[in-house]
Amino acid sequence: MTNTEETIVALATPAGAGAIGVIRLSGPDAISIANSVFKGKDLTKQQSHTIHFGSVIDGNLSLDEVLMALFIAPRSYTKENVVEISCHGSTYIIESIIKLLIKQGARSAKAGEFTLRAFLNGQLDLSQAEAVADLIAANSKASQQVALQQLRGGFSNQLQILREQLVQFASLIELELDFAEEDVEFANRDQLKKLIFEINKVIVALIQSFELGNVIKNGVNTVIAGRPNAGKSTLLNALLNEERAIVSHIPGTTRDTIEEVLNINGINFRLIDTAGIREATDAIEKIGVERTMEKIAQSSLLVYIYDADQLTDEELEADIASLQRPGVTMLIVANKADLLSDQTKEAFLQSATLFISAKDKTHIDDLKSKIYHSAVKNQLDGNETLITNIRHLEALQRTEESLSRVLSGIDSVTSDFLSMDIKQALHYLGEITGVVTTDDLLDNIFSKFCIGK
Ligand code: GDP
Repeated sequence: MTNTEETIVALATPAGAGAIGVIRLSGPDAISIANSVFKGKDLTKQQSHTIHFGSVIDGNLSLDEVLMALFIAPRSYTKENVVEISCHGSTYIIESIIKLLIKQGARSAKAGEFTLRAFLNGQLDLSQAEAVADLIAANSKASQQVALQQLRGGFSNQLQILREQLVQFASLIELELDFAEEDVEFANRDQLKKLIFEINKVIVALIQSFELGNVIKNGVNTVIAGRPNAGKSTLLNALLNEERAIVSHIPGTTRDTIEEVLNINGINFRLIDTAGIREATDAIEKIGVERTMEKIAQSSLLVYIYDADQLTDEELEADIASLQRPGVTMLIVANKADLLSDQTKEAFLQSATLFISAKDKTHIDDLKSKIYHSAVKNQLDGNETLITNIRHLEALQRTEESLSRVLSGIDSVTSDFLSMDIKQALHYLGEITGVVTTDDLLDNIFSKFCIGK
């Protein structure tokens, strides 16, 4: 998957013109290859963590004036010799320098190959390597915080400790297998039960944290729906009021649509394909219209808005009943509060229904707070461990399954079956941190990285 005898090279900064570009070399010959094209000092005689100014030359031709930063193994990101060349950010210069380095013996890095080497050389565990990708992709404060926490190893440390405790039990049970004829019990079943309960508690909490972790990492798909003239567009504008200048249009990640992103306290609420929603909800009287329903089914939050001055209670009930979907939280918002009589307003206050005026922008903050709390049920204190990765979720779920098999068999099955179930749980736990890996798994993870990472 990566031959660490080879020295790899790639642009580490985004492609395209910029003030500077950083080209990264990693591998045993990184320093000698960089030195072979460098006019300035002899790089092979310099210390680690130093920066050197000079020119990159191709024969007699000077390509650029650059800074070369040296990191001598193992004190680098990949734990190999690394040189980072900061050159001027012209596509032509960058390409010429990379071509030259390849001519001198380096090879183009594959996607994620730098981080793969960091993992293989023990610099990062697997969940930390994945956190690097998340950190680079982070587009909100909350997602950056979660990725950073994972990168620091918070959650793999926790799993590692659990795994070690389980390993101890596994070896005691193995020991019992060796003495099978004598019918001895080295592994105290009550203690084992206690440990498994304890481990399960942590695992279940991690599994449950995925919902929030996923919300933080990927945002919340949100649909605003309601009858024509309920005030959907006006509400959208009111909600996006301040953000518009900062995040106006973010290209959709799943389809080629434009999404409006509403950021509330660091969480991104993606208002999906709003043009489509507007169009589709025009037919909301004929509820059951497939497209609207499809959009709602794909979202986790539905903000249903109605004209409180016009809609009858029966119509309201009918709308609500037909829009409800399992797994989709519905927020009901009465609009056009400004048109209501004081008496009706009072009735609303009593009923705890959220009523706003999208036009006058009243109670928009209350609505935002409700939207936020629909996704973030408990206060975030910034220290909790959240999982955000579907691969981790699956491994944790499988761990939980094998642990419950251990529990249900603990008093009845023989040591060899117990041992098998415990081993399986250990395997799945190990998959998360990378103690247990396969080439396919690594390929799958690192191929999702960009080249240069
Ligand atoms: P949509 O069809 O659901 O997108 O509704 P619009 O946002 O286009 O609003 C329909 C009409 O209702 C427009 O004339 C808006 O100005 C008006 N409107 C929206 N919100 C309010 C509100 O809170 N109070 C009042 N009085 N009018 C509103």
